[in-house]
Amino acid sequence: MIEFIAEDRCIGCKKCFDVCPGDVFDVAEGRKTPVIAREQDCESCRQCAINCPAGAIYVTLLSTRLTDLDRQAVVAAGKLTAYADWLGWKDGVPPPGDRSGAMYRYEEALREKRGHRNPPDPADRVRRQLYEARDRNYI
Ligand code: SF4
Ligand code: SF4
Repeated sequence: MIEFIAEDRCIGCKKCFDVCPGDVFDVAEGRKTPVIAREQDCESCRQCAINCPAGAIYVTLLSTRLTDLDRQAVVAAGKLTAYADWLGWKDGVPPPGDRSGAMYRYEEALREKRGHRNPPDPADRVRRQLYEARDRNYI
């Protein structure tokens, strides 16, 4: 579940809005940071978090939002970039040769073309990495 965007880190690039397969974010004229508008549609894919060049987004694998989250502690613990770090992404850019993000967006484009927005195939690489990270207690 998308938890929050650290607005003091956000540079307003709107990349999270562009890559989100769940159409969770809204952008508004004159507002730097996208708004979490449809959290219930979040698939916890973390594409927003790894693509964010500012390391400003926190996503958990929980199906609901945490009510008592200490945001400062989350930021201080480096959790906003923990998954990206583990994947080797830096400043919203994948490591050389890594096609996980590109593949995900390609699959999303195919889903769009077919006229529906199904959740990604559980076998896709990003999701498998996500589950592996969870199993290793990285996230
Ligand atoms: S990708 Fe990150 S820096 Fe860019 S608008 Fe979204 S939260 Fe802000
Ligand atoms: S984790 Fe995935 S589905 Fe959820 S807001 Fe981020 S990009 Fe969208």
